[in-house]
Amino acid sequence: MQNIQQLFQSEDGNIQQRENFLSLLEKIVSSLDELKDPNKTTLGPMKERSANFYQELMQEHQVPSTGVGLDQVVEELTQLMQGHPYHTHNFVTNVLPMASIPGVLGQFTNALLNGNNLWDVYGPAAAECEVKVVAMMSKLVGYDYTKSFGYTTWGGQGAVFSGLRLAIAKQFPHAKEDGVPNNLYCFASENAHYSLLKSVEAVGIGSKHLVRVKAGKDHSMDVEDLRIRMTEVIENGGIPVYVVATTGATDQFGIDDVQAIKEITTTLEKKYDLQPVHIHADSALGGFYAFFNDYDFKKNPLQFEDNVLQGLVQIHERMQHLALADSMCFDFQKLGQTPYLTSLFLIKDGKSLQLLDIEDFDTPYVGNRGYGSYHTGYTLECSRMGSSIAIFAALQAFGKEGYQQILANYVRVNLAFRAQLAEKTPMLQVVNEANIGPVTAFRLYPDGLNWQAEQAGRYTQDQIEHINGLNASFFEIIGEGRDEVFFGDTTRVCTVSTSDTTQHVPVAAAKFFSISPYTETDHILDMIHFLQHKLKVLEASHIAYRH
Ligand SMILES: *Cc1c(COP(=O)(O)O)cnc(C)c1O
Repeated sequence: MQNIQQLFQSEDGNIQQRENFLSLLEKIVSSLDELKDPNKTTLGPMKERSANFYQELMQEHQVPSTGVGLDQVVEELTQLMQGHPYHTHNFVTNVLPMASIPGVLGQFTNALLNGNNLWDVYGPAAAECEVKVVAMMSKLVGYDYTKSFGYTTWGGQGAVFSGLRLAIAKQFPHAKEDGVPNNLYCFASENAHYSLLKSVEAVGIGSKHLVRVKAGKDHSMDVEDLRIRMTEVIENGGIPVYVVATTGATDQFGIDDVQAIKEITTTLEKKYDLQPVHIHADSALGGFYAFFNDYDFKKNPLQFEDNVLQGLVQIHERMQHLALADSMCFDFQKLGQTPYLTSLFLIKDGKSLQLLDIEDFDTPYVGNRGYGSYHTGYTLECSRMGSSIAIFAALQAFGKEGYQQILANYVRVNLAFRAQLAEKTPMLQVVNEANIGPVTAFRLYPDGLNWQAEQAGRYTQDQIEHINGLNASFFEIIGEGRDEVFFGDTTRVCTVSTSDTTQHVPVAAAKFFSISPYTETDHILDMIHFLQHKLKVLEASHIAYRH
């Protein structure tokens, strides 16, 4: 017979149970360490998966009739680490960060307490941390913390969704009961994250009512096109409810101009006598650069190099206006350096959350009692994990300066990467030159062709698709070597017009996304050599890439 109690933390804090627990943790951490190799991007060799890999897993697994014992469980957990990607200096594939120690400690504390962030009676630690981090981030971006509010939620996706719920509720407080009117419209840049697409589908607005606004040369929303598209909608009897301003796009870090967008919505509201249109800054990724909002760029206390400083100033130009948005998001599991899932949704006018709240009658087992006042009836989730604890731990440990250092380093290594790329591999051209930040998107061109001409719309659809095909082959080849240097790729970094059709054609590009705290400028040259080698492999393969 198993002693079931031994599977739990102790009830009384006795030393023996603690030491058993700690020895299991020690085993997990040391097994991880044994697999680490700073020159690889995986823990041990990459796993090959056969075609029916997942099918076999399904066949082989059932619940054991007797528990296997904790040593065996830990053994199996450490096996899961084998071949797992790991965030060493050559890990530059996407915004997939290493969880920092304070982030892990916060999450761990949260797991030990295992409160429910639904209600402060059940999860006081998370409730307190949530209030703290909402205030901390509000002050950082320039919201009035006495008015703003927020909560942790299911990703940047959840924030875009929650913003839309609010947007609808603000203009149509009875939509909750009556359903959503059928003439509502949402707007976002063609380079926006697909979170909005899923959200308009889910709330029943319908994806045909999602207007994709053109992006300009710097990949940010073309605000003139926004004005035109919104005007069209209004004059045809539609009601604009929601504009998503992407402030740091995932594939090329285009930053929409929140100030200009706000001017347009305000002007149109006056002109057509409309209710305020909710603007959500999708700052899930880029919002962290608001850590530079009060950086003294003149005195430059952290002594950033000139080009890094210039890059940061450029990002700051746009990020300083974040507070004009009605809501925003911080994906701490991205540039906030905490484990999944730690997204924070912030709302400028916290009171508006009442519009989403549910009646006490409908929530019989939680809610307002004399001894519990913090009940998150307005979130779409019922039970909620206390991810604010990890966020709080990270904010405390890094401080503004720590974040400024790591965020500036992303700019630094991207500048170095771009410089070396231009010098050593001119056929690989940067397609997001105007966007400095954590990511560089670069595209392979056959002899004689180039990004400038392609962006200007001078190539035929066939030519663009041919270049996309070439890049797809290149992604396959660099992807095979991902345990050495793990680059990313995207099939649509933006779209371009063609010289012979009316189509806008997606542009595929490889991605250098600096995210590891260990990536430094000294590592860039080896990555360029890796790319040069892979270009030779591509050339030697049968793909005709010269013409
Ligand atoms: C990552 C990202 C999202 C989606 O966030 P999840 O946390 O993955 O749900 C939305 N918008 C932007 C700009 C992002 O970078």
